[in-house]
Amino acid sequence: MRTQDRFLICPPRYYRVEYVINPWMEGNVGRARAETAAQQWQRLCDVLATHGALNAIDPVAGLPDMPFAANAGLVCKDIFIPARMRFPQRQPEARHFSAWFHAHGYRVIELPGQGTFEGEGDALFQPGAALLWGGYGVRTSLIVHRHLAAILNVEVVPLRLIDERFYHLDTCCCPLAGGRLVYYPGAFDPASLATIRGRVPAAQRCEVDADDALGFACNAIVTGATFITNHASPALRRRLGAWGFDVVCCPLHEFILAGGAAKCLALCLTHDVPTPTTVAARIAPVVCDQLIEVQGHLLDAGLMSTLFDSIADAGCSFEIEKFQPGFRHDQQSWARVRVVAPSRERLDTVLGRLMALGARQIEPERDATLVPVTRAGLAPPDFYSTTIFPTDVRLDGNWVRASGQRMDAVLVVEESAHGCTVRCALLRDLQVGERVVCGGDGIRVQRSPAAESGEPFEFMAAGVSSERRVALAIHATAREMRRVRALGGKIVVVAGPVVIHTGGGVHLAHIVHLGYVHALLGGNGLAVHDIEQAVFGTSLGVDLHSGINVHGGHRHHLKAINLVRAHGSIAKAVADGAIGRGVMYECVRHRVPFALAGSIRDDGPLPETMMDLIAAQREYARLVAGADLILMLSSMLHSIGVGNMTPAGVRLICVDISPAVVTKLADRGSIESTGIVTDVGLFLNRLDAALAQETAEYAETDAAGAAPSTASALH
Ligand code: NAD
Repeated sequence: MRTQDRFLICPPRYYRVEYVINPWMEGNVGRARAETAAQQWQRLCDVLATHGALNAIDPVAGLPDMPFAANAGLVCKDIFIPARMRFPQRQPEARHFSAWFHAHGYRVIELPGQGTFEGEGDALFQPGAALLWGGYGVRTSLIVHRHLAAILNVEVVPLRLIDERFYHLDTCCCPLAGGRLVYYPGAFDPASLATIRGRVPAAQRCEVDADDALGFACNAIVTGATFITNHASPALRRRLGAWGFDVVCCPLHEFILAGGAAKCLALCLTHDVPTPTTVAARIAPVVCDQLIEVQGHLLDAGLMSTLFDSIADAGCSFEIEKFQPGFRHDQQSWARVRVVAPSRERLDTVLGRLMALGARQIEPERDATLVPVTRAGLAPPDFYSTTIFPTDVRLDGNWVRASGQRMDAVLVVEESAHGCTVRCALLRDLQVGERVVCGGDGIRVQRSPAAESGEPFEFMAAGVSSERRVALAIHATAREMRRVRALGGKIVVVAGPVVIHTGGGVHLAHIVHLGYVHALLGGNGLAVHDIEQAVFGTSLGVDLHSGINVHGGHRHHLKAINLVRAHGSIAKAVADGAIGRGVMYECVRHRVPFALAGSIRDDGPLPETMMDLIAAQREYARLVAGADLILMLSSMLHSIGVGNMTPAGVRLICVDISPAVVTKLADRGSIESTGIVTDVGLFLNRLDAALAQETAEYAETDAAGAAPSTASALH
């Protein structure tokens, strides 16, 4: 007997219609009534709770669609595959859901490539079968269904959606136990309808009419023999009743204003999917693809649009992998396009048409070469070393996204009953027998995270700022920090002792106090000089107010170290009242985690300073994980270390007096990093003032009930 179903829900505290990304939202911006929505949601949860168990994720201000938890991703046993939303407004939701699943012990597996995926909205399991119905054509990319099949080792049957009102498969289709399917035929293209009718016998199919479909009848949560929906006509009720289902209607009009109803509001955590018995029993993917090249006057002669129309008309889709336009009218353009088809047969048909238009098939790509490790801590000679960019590895014809992306790692491939995974590993951590990717075959690096991210960082285009631009850059930094914090993001600060010598310590301490720092990374020097200043008012023996060398001051930093050692730790010295201000004090008081990595020039060191550098690197990596923004303040050593363990896509702001250092740190080939050449004390002074001002302004507008919108995307 099956155990009770479990669902993930998200309270609609911040729910409202704020933007238009589907036809249901048109004309409804600002019209959803919060109180009614809360009541409708509560009633749905009450009904659901009588049949199954509920887990709730905290909603995030500025993400009004987060209550539509079914779009967060797809769960299959212990695997969570996060969504990659088509619209930037919803893209920041993914990190919050991923963090929840990570914290609850799930394996979070990112999809390879750049295709979009809107979670269970477009991926519906047929209960009791290793079969997933995959919607595509409006929100989710067809290629993603190939990846899902490979990751989950299930058969994925793609269905093409053709009506924008039914933009997700779960708005027009609901699989039921016993191989049954409820669906609205008008939402699908003829080929997909033929697929449904070919696979599901007539007696197990229930086609609903437009009234039921537009009332979101198919958008139902099914648990056991209960069918929970916004609406069901008497005819539909009778049909479902004859199949043994008890139909419960929960009105959800306030959510339909945004284009969602019952199913959209709950993500199922307990799908009934049979486990594959052996690793070898792999299910061949239905979705297939082929790379083609075209050259010519692609834009002027309209060849590109003819090509794309041919692909779309055949029910296929495409991804442009590279495009090089001619500089002048008389020059040719060149494009490399991946054609994706819902079946081998359809791929062959469309390729025939494309060849006739002058396209050329590119040799099929090869799988990556894997070589086993023969000595612990030593990679095979031809190992591939990683960059900061998302990397996919081709295994058995499928692309798999590497996890833990960082610079200068090797790629280790692991196999389980659910398929292959790839992770970035450090040379020193390699174990005998682990298989490492070697050579250059079957490796694809996604060098354009900007395309995946929403809004570009405002002053990125400026690159390394000159002094003239510093004031502007500081204000942009403050705004970005406030935005990241408002969206529940993570800000990490890396800082060197120069922060203290230049008088910036007091400002950094205040920024920590304001809640803008979620982890602090530095060395012994930062903490020693901060504590010296907190206890003696000096930095390297110099009085920070008068700028005068204090008599005997050269010993102050050693006395500071001795003081902390006497108390046993920085935290204990703060608790005992021996340290009453400063950066470290604020970190301890506000429970901001910090890591101090040792170096050869350290005095003492302080008890917290990690002289085991491998342990220090691990702790840095742990604190950097999940960061949205990293502020690197005048420490070449620690900033470079952090930069290497940070994947592309994380905003980096590097502040240093030396243009060469800033260029080195900010030049990562990704647009999310920027450099500011200035004195770090001055920078922190102005940043503190800007943040304090913005925090006060925000509090005022918030109190007046008109908080500025935080809907803009982080990624
Ligand atoms: P670093 O050379 O890696 O970085 C210092 C950076 O500060 C340089 O890039 C420099 O250009 C920049 N800089 C100098 N003046 C500046 C200013 N006014 N504004 C902005 N940037 C400025 O050295 P580091 O990170 O300071 O120290 C290296 C290691 O030595 C660290 O681990 C540190 O903890 C340790 N250290 C220990 C002690 C101690 O134990 N007493 C003292 C100092 C440093």
